[in-house]
Amino acid sequence: MKGLGADKRYWEALSDGRLELPQCAACGRWRWPAPFRCGDCGGWDFNWQTVEMRGEIYSWTRTWHPFEGTEHLGSPFVTLSVALPRAGGVRLMGLLDGEVEPAIGAIVTGKGAVSHVYGRDIPAIRWQVSQ
Ligand SMILES: [Zn+2]
Repeated sequence: MKGLGADKRYWEALSDGRLELPQCAACGRWRWPAPFRCGDCGGWDFNWQTVEMRGEIYSWTRTWHPFEGTEHLGSPFVTLSVALPRAGGVRLMGLLDGEVEPAIGAIVTGKGAVSHVYGRDIPAIRWQVSQ
């Protein structure tokens, strides 16, 4: 993908429906957003690991009014911040699918999806509350 930096691998994996996140090769800390250098130990090398798209809702917000680039979602829509316990608790953003009331701490599973925004296909994660 063109124009991407330290997070290039994340976007490429998500385009294939997989989640990959960087873990510092020196200190083992999971890092997201992806840095070029570890903010804890100063290491430059990262091991990109495949991570299951499963976590818990850390926070959420419901948007009632569309704004530029979200018109295709309809409204209202719910955006989640999901903590991933298998990746050191790093948090990822994504949309919640379905007509369910989100709750802090609820377990969600994700899947890769593509949104067409501003004339481009952008990979994203769509989350569903686990039953
Ligand atoms: Zn480190």
